[in-house]
Amino acid sequence: MTDKIKKIRLTDRNVKFLEKVEEISGESITLCDQCGTCSAGCPFVEEMDITPSQLMREVLLGQEEVLRARTTWICASCFTCTVRCPRMLDVSKVAEALRQIGLRQAIDEIDINIIDREEYRKMPTIALVSAYRKLTG
Ligand code: SF4
Ligand code: SF4
Repeated sequence: MTDKIKKIRLTDRNVKFLEKVEEISGESITLCDQCGTCSAGCPFVEEMDITPSQLMREVLLGQEEVLRARTTWICASCFTCTVRCPRMLDVSKVAEALRQIGLRQAIDEIDINIIDREEYRKMPTIALVSAYRKLTG
């Protein structure tokens, strides 16, 4: 852990958020030592706004703003990071937990109302159902 992180004092709210994500994901996020292996191997990292290891750090620090990170939605649960993590952490479960918390707060990734009607008609039903289930609360 870097000196910068050591100096940060977590508030009760930060700790609560961290504990909530740990409870829902079942992952011991405090074990993350920020080695960056997950980010280095993630096949979708180019599409993400923050890397998987940054996502873990934000949660570790109890930063609720991480609920707005697109990375949680981009993570495809491919488990590449999971099999490589030296701490045996599953980032995809953390991303899933963040999606659940976000959706409970009505933080939707897509707004169904702004999808173009023509586009809507062309979309395969399975894509629409998947989008409704994963990206909206
Ligand atoms: S690979 Fe594991 S320990 Fe390393 S930064 Fe990612 S989650 Fe943390
Ligand atoms: S599970 Fe998610 S974060 Fe991990 S490598 Fe796959 S897409 Fe990236």
